[in-house]
Amino acid sequence: MKFFIKTFGCQMNVNDSEKINHILSDREMERTKEVEDADIVIINSCAVREKAQEKIFSFIGRLDQSQKIVVSGCVAQSEKDLILKRNRKVDFVVGTHQFYGMNEIIDDFLLKNLKGTNTTLSKEWSEEVPDIYSRENRFTGFISIMEGCDNFCTYCIVPFTRGREKYRPYRNIFDEAEYLAENGFREIVLLGQNVNSWKDQKEGVSFASLLSRIAGIEKIKWIRFITSYPGYYESELIDVMKQNRNIARHIHFPVQSGSTRILKKMGRNYTREQYIQIISKFKSEIPEIKFSSDFIVGFPGESDRDFDLTLSLIEKARYDSLFSFIYSPRKHTKAASIDDNIPAEVKKKRLQLLHELQKNIQLEAHGGLVGKELEVMVTGNNMKREGELLGRTESYKIVTFPGNHKPGEFVKVTIDSFGPHSLRGLEVI
Ligand code: SF4
Repeated sequence: MKFFIKTFGCQMNVNDSEKINHILSDREMERTKEVEDADIVIINSCAVREKAQEKIFSFIGRLDQSQKIVVSGCVAQSEKDLILKRNRKVDFVVGTHQFYGMNEIIDDFLLKNLKGTNTTLSKEWSEEVPDIYSRENRFTGFISIMEGCDNFCTYCIVPFTRGREKYRPYRNIFDEAEYLAENGFREIVLLGQNVNSWKDQKEGVSFASLLSRIAGIEKIKWIRFITSYPGYYESELIDVMKQNRNIARHIHFPVQSGSTRILKKMGRNYTREQYIQIISKFKSEIPEIKFSSDFIVGFPGESDRDFDLTLSLIEKARYDSLFSFIYSPRKHTKAASIDDNIPAEVKKKRLQLLHELQKNIQLEAHGGLVGKELEVMVTGNNMKREGELLGRTESYKIVTFPGNHKPGEFVKVTIDSFGPHSLRGLEVI
């Protein structure tokens, strides 16, 4: 039997797809590159915005009647009934904590032409898949360290799709990091909805000390962690980063709005001033550090003044990159019951203004890098230009340059030109 996995959404879903891939490869099923060639199609879904959810339904609509279809991930968790109602073709709906049972789903349902669902959320960390599973690539290793969220920000569906916070035990995380380092992975990304709330109470290990211990593993060049919640910031993190140069000088630090009034409505437990203070503290202690962030534009009640505060925060923080979205009400959340009172054109205009500002910030920052030597990790070929490679800097900037290296190799590149979203250069020989 052959299978195909289509992954929508965040790195957590990519990591879950790697685990599903491991389970199915272990029973000698073959993964296909093209969806048409598969007997079983697994759709690992994302529910973070309405648009992302709709994409899943249109993907299912294009599948062949003879294929077995399993929907997993966040939409599966939150919209089980809707999936079955809208798509009679779907054979099994499996929630975010139950995909470890993929063998039983195949043997007890798909092979018997039965339909079913399992969306139970578990309270404990599931460790049923071995730490060592098939990875998407051989140079960046994702390691899930926690899952779920206790914050219940008023707009966010994650606590309903991933459940309450669960932390993976320290020993398992450390062993997996060591294994990846021994097997040639040079970049490790610790994953979770709130990585900086992770702890192992039994072992007495905090998130900062977890980072410090992983940084002690030889051969790991860049350690990253996503996503950090600004409300859980601890100064111990700065100390650990200062002491360990292999913790990447880049933090994704989603603020969502520059207005304290809107942050309060969003249920975020920090103010604009506190957020700015934390960023300033990092920058004064680690001058080379870069930040990226997420913003929601047009949250119910966002006034022109609130939006101006968002723009001024972006100018102050001078992010390396941003992810920004128009507010999308999600079922189950508290904000979904608030009147969405901002006209669509106003939301669009605000998003456009935000993009323009950030584009100018990036152009200015990239201009300042011309003539500078940057260390770049090769990630593959540049499909747009033959003979060129594609890579990423420590702060996630995309760099293209002529060369002949394998993915995962580190190369020094002198930057000679730039655009708003990428840099170009020549390898330092
Ligand atoms: S911190 Fe807020 S936005 Fe982030 S996952 Fe938790 S509830 Fe969602």
